[in-house]
Amino acid sequence: MNIEKGLLIVLSGPSGVGKGTVRKSIFDDPSTDFKYSISMTTRNMRQGETDGVDYFFKSREEFEALIADDQFIEYAEYVGNYYGTPVQYVRDTMDNGYDVFLEIEVEGAKQVRKKFPEALFIFLAPPSLEHLKERLVGRGTESDEIIKNRILEARKEVEMMNLYDYVVVNDEVDLAKARIQSIVEAEHLKRERVEARYRKMILEAKK
Ligand code: ADP
Ligand code: 5GP
Repeated sequence: MNIEKGLLIVLSGPSGVGKGTVRKSIFDDPSTDFKYSISMTTRNMRQGETDGVDYFFKSREEFEALIADDQFIEYAEYVGNYYGTPVQYVRDTMDNGYDVFLEIEVEGAKQVRKKFPEALFIFLAPPSLEHLKERLVGRGTESDEIIKNRILEARKEVEMMNLYDYVVVNDEVDLAKARIQSIVEAEHLKRERVEARYRKMILEAKK
């Protein structure tokens, strides 16, 4: 059977912009039919998180062994911890015709851009950098030092918008979710994609 390969969707943007929140809202919506690729990380588990749901939590040794074994599509060291996307799940799921959704920081997104130039890259942007600061402080899970590092990082990241296909402002979670869903829907209707589907149908009808 000929299954059309799923899309690779990459949501990225500055830390604290709301990637995790928007991603959860997308996957809480029963109309969403794409699959979330759970990342691996060496950071400590936060309260309320579950291993194998929010992340696969690994030691540095385990993570470095996986890097050596080429088990990541991309990985990055971010504020002292490794984060990475396991290759197997993404490839298998796309081959089975499902869209795969990655929620990753910008260094990782750059690496994915090189390996999968045909993927769909969405940059989640804060309404303003001040909002970003308020939100990071408001979350209350990080020390002042870490917050300072993350804000420095975020300023650099905002300048990296030009690597992306779309920019979605996260003014309200529901609006950002709906915008992302519309972008994915439109991507499926791109002429190149639809044309390829029709060509395949015609070839099969000729047999
Ligand atoms: P990221 O995953 O990008 O680091 P989070 O999803 O952890 O960001 O969000 C950071 C903080 O901002 C959280 O406290 C979250 O509840 C809040 N937040 C996210 N999106 C919005 C929004 N649209 N409006 C107001 N607060 C938001
Ligand atoms: P947090 O520690 O807040 O869960 O995540 C910190 C940052 O790491 C966020 O920007 C998040 O999007 C990013 N991140 C999560 N998983 C991955 C991943 O697999 N690869 C990369 N490069 N970044 C990730």
